[in-house]
Amino acid sequence: MLNNKVDTYFDSHCHLDFKEFDHNRSQILANCLRLRVNSIFIPGVSEAGWQRQLAVIEKQITDVSLYYGFGLHPYFLNEHGSKALVGLETVLATHQPIAVGEIGLDFMLDEAGFDKQYQLLQKQLVIAKIAQLPVVLHIRKAYDQVLKLLRQLKLKEGGIVHAFAGSEQQAERFIELGFKLGFGGAVTYTRANKLRKLATRLPLENIVLETDAPDMLPSFVRAGCNSPENIPKIAEIIAGLREIETDILTKQTTLNTKQVFNIK
Ligand SMILES: [Zn+2]
Repeated sequence: MLNNKVDTYFDSHCHLDFKEFDHNRSQILANCLRLRVNSIFIPGVSEAGWQRQLAVIEKQITDVSLYYGFGLHPYFLNEHGSKALVGLETVLATHQPIAVGEIGLDFMLDEAGFDKQYQLLQKQLVIAKIAQLPVVLHIRKAYDQVLKLLRQLKLKEGGIVHAFAGSEQQAERFIELGFKLGFGGAVTYTRANKLRKLATRLPLENIVLETDAPDMLPSFVRAGCNSPENIPKIAEIIAGLREIETDILTKQTTLNTKQVFNIK
């Protein structure tokens, strides 16, 4: 009966395939299970990354549910070859990803690549639409541009805007288009006033939890890299800001993540 009472966490964005976890991945997953972080979504960032993700899933020996998506991340723009988009269509068709991502626009990167980033995102959104999969978006300084693209392409499946850092108005527009907003390490810093206000004001039905591990070190971790083991503390901090019980936040955010990823 105890299990019915205790809610489990979902890390909606964790790069568990990255080399930072090569020496302790199994240990981390075992710890996750103990901490009730029972589900993790691993985004795909490049062709080489897709292979790493599949290897991690194959070698996984714990009961943590690992889900994954495939995509071509703007960070790795120069690594994506001319056949990368065809490769994406193939890998989507031959495996069972729950999303297309991580894809997006990062206008904090080199301006020379903006056009190429835009084209790449547009094409991947079309691929996601045809595959009828939600998308996991990485956006920096380009929220309005992405909103415009989503409206033009009329994506039906929605998705997640990970590590959301836009305005409340932009958040509302994404929500209207069926998106959930991911909150993680950044919101744990007391100086993140704007973000903390947003995490407090948005309807609970539209929020998902994430670590973006190994990146986005939360305030309570002094050194090393971020880990999905930090999700319970991130949940506690957001619940504190919202002045609600952590269990209520945990239950709803896990439900939100499963809903947007169509996990039964
Ligand atoms: Zn990421």
